[in-house]
Amino acid sequence: MTTVTDDRTGSNSAASTRDRDEPKGTVVLESVTKRFGTAIAVDSIDLRVEPGEFLSLLGPSGCGKTTTLRMLAGFEQPDAGSIRISGQDVLGIPPYKRNVNTVFQAYALFPHLTIAENVAYGLQQTKTPKSEIRTRVADALDMVRMRSFADRKPQQLSGGQQQRIALARALVNRPSVLLLDEPLGALDRQLREEMQLELKLLQSRVGISFIFVTHDQHEALSMSDRIAIMRDGRIEQLADADTIYGAPVNSYVAGFIGQQNFIHATAATAATADAAIGTVSTSSTNPAVSRGDAIVAAVRPEFVELTAAETTSARTANRFDGTVLSTSHLGETVQFLVDLGNDISIQSRLPTPSAPRLFEGDRATVSFSPDSVQFFPADSTAPEHSQPEGVTS
Ligand code: ATP
Repeated sequence: MTTVTDDRTGSNSAASTRDRDEPKGTVVLESVTKRFGTAIAVDSIDLRVEPGEFLSLLGPSGCGKTTTLRMLAGFEQPDAGSIRISGQDVLGIPPYKRNVNTVFQAYALFPHLTIAENVAYGLQQTKTPKSEIRTRVADALDMVRMRSFADRKPQQLSGGQQQRIALARALVNRPSVLLLDEPLGALDRQLREEMQLELKLLQSRVGISFIFVTHDQHEALSMSDRIAIMRDGRIEQLADADTIYGAPVNSYVAGFIGQQNFIHATAATAATADAAIGTVSTSSTNPAVSRGDAIVAAVRPEFVELTAAETTSARTANRFDGTVLSTSHLGETVQFLVDLGNDISIQSRLPTPSAPRLFEGDRATVSFSPDSVQFFPADSTAPEHSQPEGVTS
């Protein structure tokens, strides 16, 4: 084992030892489990975050995101498994000796201190020399583009500006990993979107690993290099946004990200299934699906074509007649909900310029390509229908 420098304090600490030859900024969780009483909050997860990566933990409330982050920060100890940060086994190492910093949703700035004093606070506690504090505070404020606000008090800043200061206060410690727990949750929608862009730019500027907890899929999709979709303490899929959206591993992920139609059916062959409304076919077969299995066929609304009812056309796979239940104009797109009978309805979302003029009660034909269909084993936890914004059936 070789002793490495603890960048947070600038000193060599006995706890800062390298147990594996993994580059600075690498985070590895192996079979990590955390229980609270009999409840399992995190269930034997494995995760590897690469140096400089922006990785999001995304999932519904209670799936274990914050607990995972708190174990990385050192605020919670796992019951089983190991955690390494920059090659160092951090189990038993207190939060202040880990080369990580956490940014929370609540900025918790000291109201009586100036912005510069707020950012300097942690360095003063570790007795960092004054000249170094000055340089590091200026650098950290530059990183979040807030240097000109150094002499103001927190209450003289907007919510977004205060969150930037909270980021500067974390970055001033020069962590190799920044942990972010819903840091944009308190901001209004527009500011949140601006800050998403800022955060991504900041992350590429500073080049350190970001682990970002959110339950907001748009936030995760727009910023992350990779996303870990969590459910019940487990990681269901870990991949980049394109893969998560375009090739979800199961119906849970398929329904959790974006809008989705699920058609319940029985697999007839690897590529076709019998639904109450007719045959559904796919061009991407799923090895987890065998003939006779109960399945769901998933197709996203943007791949569902819609035309006025074609009474003369032959019925083929992936082509069904129905009645328009609702039409919603959403600006760039128009969203349709079409009743296909047998208690099955399907959503279609089409670009406004090419959307057909169809309204409630009109007969319509929906169709989609086998390329846009995925078969999954039926999962009782998958939603029947992931509903688009602004549409009710
Ligand atoms: P949210 O988005 O609501 O913050 P989350 O995905 O971050 O949710 P966690 O906070 O990690 O979820 O919680 C995971 C599970 O562990 C939940 O069932 C929660 O109730 C439980 N839990 C978390 N902290 C504690 C605690 N200190 N004591 C008991 N149970 C806890």
